[in-house]
Amino acid sequence: MTAIQAARQNDGESSTILLIDRRQKIGAKILISGGTRCNVTNREVLSSDYQGGVSHFVKHVLEAFTPRETIDFFGQMGVELVLEPTGKYFPTTHSGKTVLEALVRETERLGIELKTGVVITGVEKEGNFFRLSGKSETESSLLAKKVILTTGGLSYPETGSDGTGFQIARSFGHTIVDTAPALTPLTTDDEDWRSLSGITLPVKLSFYKQNRKKAEARGSFLFTHFGFSGPVVLDISRHWTKAGLQEEPRVEASFLPDQNEAALGSVLEKKKNANPHRKLKTVLCEDFSLPARFVEVFLRKAGVSTDKKIIRLLLNCPLRVTGVVGYKKAEVTAGGVDLKEVNVSTMESRKVPGLYFAGEILDVDGRIGGFNFQWAWSSGAVAGRAAVKSLS
Ligand SMILES: Cc1cc2nc3c(=O)[nH]c(=O)nc-3n(C[C@H](O)[C@H](O)[C@H](O)COP(=O)(O)OP(=O)(O)OC[C@H]3O[C@@H](n4cnc5c(N)ncnc54)[C@H](O)[C@@H]3O)c2cc1C
Repeated sequence: MTAIQAARQNDGESSTILLIDRRQKIGAKILISGGTRCNVTNREVLSSDYQGGVSHFVKHVLEAFTPRETIDFFGQMGVELVLEPTGKYFPTTHSGKTVLEALVRETERLGIELKTGVVITGVEKEGNFFRLSGKSETESSLLAKKVILTTGGLSYPETGSDGTGFQIARSFGHTIVDTAPALTPLTTDDEDWRSLSGITLPVKLSFYKQNRKKAEARGSFLFTHFGFSGPVVLDISRHWTKAGLQEEPRVEASFLPDQNEAALGSVLEKKKNANPHRKLKTVLCEDFSLPARFVEVFLRKAGVSTDKKIIRLLLNCPLRVTGVVGYKKAEVTAGGVDLKEVNVSTMESRKVPGLYFAGEILDVDGRIGGFNFQWAWSSGAVAGRAAVKSLS
């Protein structure tokens, strides 16, 4: 996106746009994203869908290249997107390959030079130019008037993003806000929950620090053989990874997210009065659509308890979290280049003129739903256009 917008801005001018990637095949994350379907953007993208640096920065950038523009951008390249009831947009082919192929085709059409298999390990200012350095001769012969760093964060390192970009930014005096894996599954040592591996149900999760509620997320929850996963768990995970143990982080689940204690109490009471022989287990399975295996384990864990206690536990069930799966399986990295050191209208470094940033390398992380790609498209478009404009 960054190179394409730069080349479009260039519009027949002679400057060369070079797109460099360490991997032989670019766009690995696009291919694996959204369960290989690539959730390109969302129906509604607000700055409140993001964590990290200042939200007015995020708002400004999203307004400069909106989800509507993303949909039109891909539409013009022949990639039709379809809106799903969850608000997520996917290509109608349900394949990330369509998205990646369209982007690569457009870089070719615009004459963007693509250098793959080239690892950049350092960038230095040399007069009015930047000298790129790497492991071989190829890299050290690269001189550029402008450099846009879009090296991603630390998540899924096998896709190419191993944090080198942070080192380069640091070498120019940039502050890197502490990084942590985000959108990653949580682990538990609770064998009861682990035994429910494979079961999915809608859940509301609440995150507490020192007994104060700090965040809440709703969505699909999955028990796994190592702990907890599914969109709602991934969404809450960045709060866990960013918290220190001394802050006493805690996660609680409501397994009936649309109920509250009073309403659920009176419904159960009525059902009991109507048929005193019906077991609580049957009511929870049949009338509240909770999976039988889950209810069995849940009631066993609750022990011999009053209905009131069981209700309270169903709606505020502490989950013993031992950690996260980490960068290896994190969809995004929290933290990154401090937004305070970046110009919001151009994405140019406030420290080093001519150096720009876009995408996940910045201190912005979105929730599940196409928000991270939208951030990459928006910030990439702003940076690409601004870098070329400044050449004239
Ligand atoms: C499993 C998974 C599923 C996801 N699903 C979705 C989804 O459906 N929707 C969504 O919005 N987001 C999703 N995301 C998040 C999204 O993919 C990222 O936020 C987005 O790709 C970030 O784009 P980026 O260009 O900033 O970084 P990246 O996509 O990480 O790209 C960085 C590129 O820089 C290259 N590079 C890094 N260092 C160097 C170097 N030193 N020299 C040369 N090249 C280098 C890498 O090879 C890589 O190609 C998902 C992520 C994962 C891991």
